[in-house]
Amino acid sequence: MQLSSRRLRAALLAAASLTLVAAVLPPPTALGIGDPLFPELGNPGYDVLSYDLSFTYKDNKSPLDAVTVIDARATAPLERINLDFTHGKVASAEVNGEPARYESVGEDLVLTPRRAVADGGPLRITVRHTSDPRGRGDGGWVPTEDGLAMANQADAAHRVFPCNDHPADKALFTFRISAPAGLTAVANGYQVAPALRIGPSTTWTYRTRHPMATELAQVSVGRSAVVHGTGPHGLPLRNVVPAADRQRLDPWLKKTAGHIEWMEERVGRYPFENYGVLIARATTGFELETQTLSLFESSLFSGDGYPEWYVESVMVHELAHQWFGDSVTPRTWSDLWLNEGHATWYEALYADGLGKYSLERRMREAYQRSDQWRAAGGPPAAPKAAAPGEKIGLFRPVVYDGAALILYALRQEIGTPAFDRIERRWVAQYRDGIAGTADFVRLASQEAGRDLGAFLEPWLYGTKTPPMPGHPEWSAPAPAPAGKAAPGKAAPGKAAPGRTAAGKALPGGKRV
Ligand SMILES: [Zn+2]
Repeated sequence: MQLSSRRLRAALLAAASLTLVAAVLPPPTALGIGDPLFPELGNPGYDVLSYDLSFTYKDNKSPLDAVTVIDARATAPLERINLDFTHGKVASAEVNGEPARYESVGEDLVLTPRRAVADGGPLRITVRHTSDPRGRGDGGWVPTEDGLAMANQADAAHRVFPCNDHPADKALFTFRISAPAGLTAVANGYQVAPALRIGPSTTWTYRTRHPMATELAQVSVGRSAVVHGTGPHGLPLRNVVPAADRQRLDPWLKKTAGHIEWMEERVGRYPFENYGVLIARATTGFELETQTLSLFESSLFSGDGYPEWYVESVMVHELAHQWFGDSVTPRTWSDLWLNEGHATWYEALYADGLGKYSLERRMREAYQRSDQWRAAGGPPAAPKAAAPGEKIGLFRPVVYDGAALILYALRQEIGTPAFDRIERRWVAQYRDGIAGTADFVRLASQEAGRDLGAFLEPWLYGTKTPPMPGHPEWSAPAPAPAGKAAPGKAAPGKAAPGRTAAGKALPGGKRV
């Protein structure tokens, strides 16, 4: 038949051209989108629309079985597709329903589909793989006493699942998590349907209503209690705590609604479908603003070591990130100051409101250290890359209090009403989007009614801290010679300096 033979010819031609394509493709290489701090994060040529992640958990000593389904749109013709993925074994890969060849190159998983993907065309990738919670603790799965949690910031999501691991490519997420009886699984977003029990295993399904960066994904498996409540204007609250600690932690959980109200008064409506804290029996040394479900170490709430006002201000810090960092995601990792500067700002403002540590005093103390912080970590908007093997070394004081100081200077320069308008408009205009430093300068200039570029430039990019408007008496001591600790210098790796009302440094500054 004519039709059939034409089809056959077309198939043969396609097969021949595919062979030719395969023969001339150069060896696969690891790619990135050119982030100044993480050049190999992310991948060119496609935009992820959604992730559908399935995990089967057994115990902390075994890799999880996982299936990652990615729906994307090609933004260029693609003969190869790079994903970021490491620390798991791949069993199979498919592109648009057909098996694809896969190879690991560095921390990329490189897929070669049978037929090239057309520019603008749909791209569905399915990878069957394992996800290994064991090994070096540099992000990804975090073992807890009773299971696992996740901490992917900045570049560890691809230690858990294959992805386009850069905050500039946000997507919707669905999580399907199966775990043995006695354990409870929770993830970002809302629960789609009641947990489904089949034999000895139960499966939970969660979905995000808003796009999310891979670094903000959260999956918790443990002997957990899920404590529901209601926040301002009916916002669903969902906290996840070790079941055994529920009663002890309850007074802390009750504070969240008030924190949200406090933030909403300042910047407008909470941006997501629900909120809650995930308190894990784990030693991480940090808290993390995973979207809709912020991760905290249980030791923060143990009642010894940290005064109540400090714990609350850290809770507000992670909550503030839901607007600054989660809803509005940084364009590159050099824009991290927009996350941490704002979260520190509201943390400090909250402590100020409690009458425990005034904003002005905190900013004056930050001012005194700012030149040292800039010398150690680079300017707030152009931070130095972390040393090899110290990925979280990026989270230095210069992007916390050193960046909150920029916001303080801006408020001093343009006045509180204009500053407040900037904050509200920033999170409204870029809601569910990405934005960078230039966007902030532009928006600030618009709200202030004058070009703030020349004013903000040295605050953002200078090696020296500019004079503080309204505080000519503030001064920054010169940096100490290399190797010598300067007076008042924060210990390396310590984040916002937590202090008691009496000015005593709190034990163990926390990365937040
Ligand atoms: Zn933070």
